Order: sequence, then structure tokens, then C-alpha cells
Amino acid sequence: MSGTIHIVGAGLAGLSCAVRLADEGRRVALHEAARMAGGRCRSYFDPSLDLVIDNGNHLLLSGNWAARDYGARIGASDALVGPAECQFDFLDFETGRRWRLRPNASKIPWWIFVPDRRVPETRPLDYLDAARLLFAKAGATIGETMRCDGLLFEKLWRPVMLSALNTEPTEASATLAGAVLRETLAAGGAACRPLVARGGLGHAFIEPALAKLSAQGVSPRFGARLREIDVDDGRVRALRFAGEDIALGEEDSVVLAVPPWSATELVPKLVAPDDYRAILNVHFKIAPPPGQPLLLGMVGSVSEWLFAFDDRLSVTISGADRLIEEPREALAGQIWAEVAAATGLPRDLPPWQIVKEKRATFAATPAQEARRPGAETAWRNLFLAGDWTATGLPATIEGSIRSGYKAAALAGCAKAP
Ligand SMILES: Cc1cc2nc3c(=O)[nH]c(=O)nc-3n(C[C@H](O)[C@H](O)[C@H](O)COP(=O)(O)OP(=O)(O)OC[C@H]3O[C@@H](n4cnc5c(N)ncnc54)[C@H](O)[C@@H]3O)c2cc1C
Repeated sequence: MSGTIHIVGAGLAGLSCAVRLADEGRRVALHEAARMAGGRCRSYFDPSLDLVIDNGNHLLLSGNWAARDYGARIGASDALVGPAECQFDFLDFETGRRWRLRPNASKIPWWIFVPDRRVPETRPLDYLDAARLLFAKAGATIGETMRCDGLLFEKLWRPVMLSALNTEPTEASATLAGAVLRETLAAGGAACRPLVARGGLGHAFIEPALAKLSAQGVSPRFGARLREIDVDDGRVRALRFAGEDIALGEEDSVVLAVPPWSATELVPKLVAPDDYRAILNVHFKIAPPPGQPLLLGMVGSVSEWLFAFDDRLSVTISGADRLIEEPREALAGQIWAEVAAATGLPRDLPPWQIVKEKRATFAATPAQEARRPGAETAWRNLFLAGDWTATGLPATIEGSIRSGYKAAALAGCAKAP
């Protein structure tokens, strides 16, 4: 097993695969089409705000074991911050009511019996309905599996499921929702502490990984777009990049860690997700007021999650396809009016930036879920990684890192013929 493992794509799937293999002393070559690493999880300098911002705010949970393992491997465990215990602050924009959801740490969910730990005006029994997701039929939607109306759905399940799946819950896969529930609330509050990359995604996930890889002798080739994969006799024989071909030796293998729209162009007959959902982020250059929670869930408003960073307030809206064509100025004004009301800040619009990610994630519907391929392919030395492969999770950091680890395990063991 002395061959080189070529990893194509330096998003989190590719980086985590590279980190894992380099840690095992394997020879790794990393190729990335863009001028920077990170893919859909990146920080960059925005000249109009004169700030480093993220393409989108990312929320992780303490139960995301792969993301935390990756953070530890790259020496960035302390870059994710959050409250010491599981708590989520919410504001109902229509009524002005605020509450703090506080699931207890253990698996026995006694918190649903404590009124000031649960959603106001809900009853303990209301919470049981969502347990149906844990036993959902393959191919069923959330709408076919549990009640998708009523107070608890509107104030808790809809916002949580929409952000986890980036798909309107009524049409989203109940199996994927069940997987999220199983690894989070059903595992107890200890697995649900919210974690945010307060110093930016680059600082938490990308720069430390590149520094570590560089120390291990791996320097990514940026601006290297893979155009074609040559296959013969059941193996990949060459990678054709724009301007350069790389012939593969008998012991070499390839991990393709690109998004599905690239992978299907490169791999013959690959079936992969082909329907996507947008995420919209609006960044406001203004310091949060004292006491502003790191994360505020907003219901009854266009804004869904308000993140408080030291130098900006930032709103995330999932499943945002309906807003993609909206005029930017009007949208910024509307969102700021909501944020100003939620925070008590003046109504004057601060400097802002809107980042629209049209293909933020694949649509987490049962039909798309059925299109997710495994990591192995028809070619012995070609493996797939990415949040869109069959990870059993929705398109998330956790899923992409698990896929990177899985591809690393397969490619690291791939035998020469
Ligand atoms: C706005 C937004 C908000 C999000 N919020 C959350 C969140 O709160 N929590 C969460 O867990 N997840 C969130 N996600 C999802 C998360 O960002 C993704 O699941 C994860 O980043 C995907 O990583 P990946 O490596 O699988 O794919 P990508 O990040 O897409 O990486 C693929 C890489 O391949 C490169 N590439 C493409 N084609 C080629 C080619 N032909 N040759 C060479 N390189 C190529 C690309 O440039 C890219 O760098 C969010 C995503 C977005 C966009």
C-alpha cells in the first residue's frame, strides 16, 4: 500500500479524508478547482464590509462526533464555542414572546415535564408524536409520519427540521429526520449543545487543516479542475486536469470529493442527487448588544436563526429558494427590521452583505435520498466522498466528514490488482 491517494476536492469531505490518510502516514495528493479550500464551508474577506465573513453561518451540535474528532486532529477543538449546557433561545416574532428550550443532559427526557424548559403552552404528550420519526418507513416524508401542524410543530419541529434538512419538513425524508433526532434530542441534551465557529469557518475547519497537512508534506494544488477520469480494466488509469494529466500507478487510488453536479459529469452512469435547496445569509456589520445569545431561533419572521459574532450579526434562512430572486436591498431592509426589533438595536440599516448559496445542499426528500450512492464505485481504485453520498445524514458538516473518513478507510486499504 505504497501508492498515492489522489483526493479531488478540498471541501470538508476531501480535507477530512486527507487529514485521516496523512495521519496514517499515507501519501496524499490534494487537487482543488477553486483558488481556496473549504468549498461550501469557507471564510473570505468581503471588501464591502471590510470584514472576514463566512459564506453561511454553520451550526454544529456536541453529538457530531466526526466533526469533533476532525477538530481535535487539526488542533482546532477550541474553535467551536457554545453554552456549557444544551439551550436554545427562541423569539416568537408575532407575539414577542421569548423562551429558552433546555433539554436535560441525559437520555431520559424529563425536561418535557418542566414547563420552563419546553416550548410555552405545549404539553409533555405533544412531544411524543415526533418519536414516530425514529421508526419511519423508508421512503416516507415527515408529513406522512408525524403531525405537521399545531403549536409545537410551528415553534419547534418546523424550525429545527428545516434547518437540519434544508428542506420544508412536510416534503422532507422522515428517515433523515429520524437520523437527526436519534443522534441529537433522543441521545439527550449532552449531544445537543449548539456549537458555532465564532472566529469563522476558516479558522475552525480549513486553515488548521491546511497547516497540518502542509507540515505532513501535503500541499494542495489549487486551480486544478478535474475534467475527465480515464478508466480501463476496472480501474482509474489517469486523471485529466485542465492543463495537466496525471497517470496513476497500479497502487494509486482516487477519492472524488466534489459536489454531485461535478461528480456526475466525471463518473459514467453515476446516479446522484440532482435537486437542491438554497440557503441565504444576511450579514450586518454591527456589534451585537450586550447579552445577545450566540444563537437565537426566530419564528413567525422571515429571519430564522440570528447568529451573534463579535463584529457582526448574521441571519440564516434555510430552504430559501423563494427569496433568491428578491431584490437584495429590499431583503436586507426587511431582515434588518426584524433583527432590530429582536435585539433592540436602532432601525437604521448598518452595512450589510447578502450571500445566496443556490445549491447549498441537496433537497432532503425521499426521492433524492434514494439517489445517494455509496462510497465504492464500479472501479476498484475510485471512491466517492461528500455530503451527498449515502451517509445516512442530511447534507451537513458531520455527514461530509464521515464520508471523508469512510473514503479514507476504503482508499487506504484499496488493493492493487
Ligand atoms: C450557506 C450554507 C449553510 C450551511 N449550514 C450548515 C450548518 O449549519 N451545519 C452543517 O452541518 N452544515 C451546513 N451546511 C452544509 C455544509 O457546508 C456542507 O455539507 C459541507 O461543507 C459539504 O462539504 P463537501 O466537502 O461534501 O462538499 P463541498 O464543500 O462542495 O466541496 C467540494 C469541493 O470540490 C471542489 N470541486 C468541484 N468540482 C471539482 C473538480 N472538477 N475538480 C477539482 N475540484 C472540484 C469544489 O471547489 C469544492 O471545494 C451549509 C452549507 C451552506 C452552503
